[in-house]
Amino acid sequence: MSHRTPLIAGNWKMNKTPAEGVELAKALVAQVGTESAVQIVLCPPFTALDAVGRAIEGTHLALGAQNMHDKASGAFTGEVSATMLRGLHAGYVILGHSERRSIFGEDDAFINRKVLAALEASLKPILCVGELLSEREAGRTNEVVRIQVEKGLAGVPAGRAEQVVIAYEPVWAIGTGKTATPAMAQEVHAFIRGLLAAQFGAEIAARVRILYGGSMKPDNADALLAEHDIDGGLIGGASLEAKSFVDLVRSAAKSLAP
Ligand code: PEP
Repeated sequence: MSHRTPLIAGNWKMNKTPAEGVELAKALVAQVGTESAVQIVLCPPFTALDAVGRAIEGTHLALGAQNMHDKASGAFTGEVSATMLRGLHAGYVILGHSERRSIFGEDDAFINRKVLAALEASLKPILCVGELLSEREAGRTNEVVRIQVEKGLAGVPAGRAEQVVIAYEPVWAIGTGKTATPAMAQEVHAFIRGLLAAQFGAEIAARVRILYGGSMKPDNADALLAEHDIDGGLIGGASLEAKSFVDLVRSAAKSLAP
């Protein structure tokens, strides 16, 4: 960890009704609602954004969405826009999650348009990148991640780059209980920071948060968060219960200790 404010984001995926989301959000507010050393972001499904947003109002917790469309409005049945998310006081949006890429066929060009639209609307994109197991085994991790980062961030003005958060999520580690070792993750995170430096310059690259995602849990978080270029986590399964999520926030706070 470094001078960057760590960020712990909970990706609730297609879980929690509004009432269940409020219950979880209230439990989190009670335990870490005044935590200022760590940026905490809750990403409920669209249907719970409003209720969860109200439950965390006035606390240090921020609201994020799990996806959006790149267009501002129009005939896109089932989609929501950046402006709509801003209207619910979302500050972040997860883009390019591997489930969006693999199940819903999203490609880098579409994800890039969303990144640009999010930034334009003052939403911070959490751009997810990561390799499949077959790609890692074929020695193609860096190549895959480079293409996703470069295409995902094409056209992002340097002045807005600091608003971007990258989440390195090796696909084989998502929801599987398998985690990248801290050394494996650090290697890719450092590689990503190098890509950011090439595009935006070293100073800006040093300020961009790069999260790890993929079965991050209280029992492996300390070691991952101790790595220099791991600035927090994008958490799936362990974000659905207050205790494990709070423990992850505490790990991130602890990682700041000299
Ligand atoms: C995710 O889906 O972004 C994720 C990291 O999930 P999990 O923590 O369950 O592996």
